[in-house]
Amino acid sequence: MILIDGKKAAAELREELKKEVIELKAKYNKVPGLTVILIGDMTPSQIYVRNKEKFANEVGLKSEVIKYPDTVEEKTVLEKIEELNKDETVSGILVQLPLPKHIDKQKVIETIIPSKDVDGFHPMNVGNLSSGYESSVPCTPLGCYLLIKKIEPNLNGKKAVIVGRSNLNGKPMMQLLLKENCTVTITHSKTKDLKLECLEADIIVAAVGIPELVKGDWVKKDTIVIDVGINKTDKGIVGDVAFEEVSKNAKALTPVPGGVGPMTIACLLKNTVECFKRSQI
Ligand code: NAP
Repeated sequence: MILIDGKKAAAELREELKKEVIELKAKYNKVPGLTVILIGDMTPSQIYVRNKEKFANEVGLKSEVIKYPDTVEEKTVLEKIEELNKDETVSGILVQLPLPKHIDKQKVIETIIPSKDVDGFHPMNVGNLSSGYESSVPCTPLGCYLLIKKIEPNLNGKKAVIVGRSNLNGKPMMQLLLKENCTVTITHSKTKDLKLECLEADIIVAAVGIPELVKGDWVKKDTIVIDVGINKTDKGIVGDVAFEEVSKNAKALTPVPGGVGPMTIACLLKNTVECFKRSQI
């Protein structure tokens, strides 16, 4: 079984981006800029943002974090986004989720100009992705896609089963694999026989939020299994896939942690560089 090393893949991607940023600087005399807005003091969000900033600096991006207390008015945040939309030194804008209840998440997402939407959540980017046009792609499914392609460059005709249909993970994952000519089944909480669906898959992507839902006897030999889940349990952090059992059958499997997680941040940096390049045309 191939243990898919997300940390290594993310480090390689960052190294490629670092070289690309040097080239872009030589060509345009400026570097891509990423601005992250962090509202409130939730610990996981603070850790994510700190890591985003650290890696953005590592690849040579201009990185900025704007912090607000969780009492900030929605209007203040929207005005700041409008200002960043017009700022030519900012290539990508990300508002760290979740947001305090009094701030309308969708309004925030839709205020970010689609060309700077590095999360790929704006309806314009969602629509472009589903139509097969150029767009920012949400970072976690993009990371999963790149890991799958490392194992199997030609996905033509492969049967992919995605467990979970969230806008963040399952749906964009479906679009990416469809574009690669996979036959895609997307499953959810009302799916009648999840085991049967998974047993047909050449590729399984699990993005559910239920610890170790996907069992060893759900996976046929030669299946690539990507585990997006991050679940806190008494055993520590586990994924949505029963790692020990599935590793006996699968062709390749991502660990949790150290699989999809590191690729998510690397893909955010990639999206920032892509937004910058599109803005220079
Ligand atoms: P979400 O928005 O809660 O969506 C979960 C999906 O799973 C829903 O579509 C739900 O179906 C489906 N589901 C629930 N129970 C199911 C069952 N028994 N069988 C089949 N499907 C079922 O979750 P998310 O935001 O996509 O996140 C999923 C997991 O990924 C979480 O553990 C999260 O922490 C993790 N995550 C990891 C990263 C990373 O960087 N590694 C990034 C983001 C999220 P319905 O639509 O029918 O309710």
